[in-house]
Amino acid sequence: MSDVIAVIGAGQMGNGIAHVCASAGLPVTMIDVSEAALAKGRANIEKNFERQIKKGSIDAATRDAALARVSTSGDLGAVKGATFAIEAATENADLKFKIFAELDRLADANTILASNTSSISITEIAARTKRPAQVIGMHFMNPVPVMQLVEIIRGLATSEGTLSRTNALATALGKTPVEAQDYPGFIANRILMPMINEAVFCVMEGVGTPEAVDTVMKLGMNHPMGPLALADLIGLDTCLAILDVLHKGLGDPKYRASPLLRKYVAAGWLGRKTGRGFYEYK
Ligand code: NAD
Repeated sequence: MSDVIAVIGAGQMGNGIAHVCASAGLPVTMIDVSEAALAKGRANIEKNFERQIKKGSIDAATRDAALARVSTSGDLGAVKGATFAIEAATENADLKFKIFAELDRLADANTILASNTSSISITEIAARTKRPAQVIGMHFMNPVPVMQLVEIIRGLATSEGTLSRTNALATALGKTPVEAQDYPGFIANRILMPMINEAVFCVMEGVGTPEAVDTVMKLGMNHPMGPLALADLIGLDTCLAILDVLHKGLGDPKYRASPLLRKYVAAGWLGRKTGRGFYEYK
């Protein structure tokens, strides 16, 4: 049976996930509380398909067929009929708990409920539903159409059947699934966020400018992108939310977020999505 996908949240991750689902031939509905986010999400998918056409990796007919598989809705009830719901809403635990309780009520009985959370406990999210065996973490990387990895996180109650259906979906989307256990930040952000945070401390303490920090990591460590440019891409609000989860969940002061990161978020300097973070974007 071929999967039918509902993606909750049409932001940068949600529209990327919808893009790869539609490209893999799966019908996908993007659901968001914001009409503007749905319109921007759809426009972003169109832009990314255009980029693929320019690169010669797809033709116009393939793009048209894929776009025809993408629908949008402002109503969470549109999850009905989906075999997989992939939640990619804002990184906020209470918000995700509420969405999962609703999804549990609205989705078909055998639907798998996956979260793209970067750091929040899958076990805790699952406990908000009456189907914890069918709840799992499916952590895509940004930008979704480009990045190979999907980190798969099992909650305490996640079943073998859910794990194998999720691995099969990730593979069908052309991705490589890697399993992680349910601890704060899983594998990817447990390692990435302390590095980004240390880069912000370097800027705060005047050890180096953002350009110097990023250039050292690119030319000296062969990273394709410096940590501050990467933080701007991820979203500084998302980075701060993840660091707070690591700090609280692991109880170690080494994960405390840099006050400079907190100040940027308070100012609304969230990175690329707002046009300003450690760098300015036109
Ligand atoms: P974003 O701010 O671009 O998008 C979040 C979207 O969620 C917005 O469009 C918002 O309107 C929507 N939303 C908020 N409440 C909602 C609700 N109740 N129902 C439906 N939609 C709702 O954020 P993003 O960067 O796409 O991040 C989304 C998730 O993906 C987060 O959990 C984040 O941690 C995770 N993630 C992000 C990255 C990254 O690099 N940004 C990478 C991997 C995972």
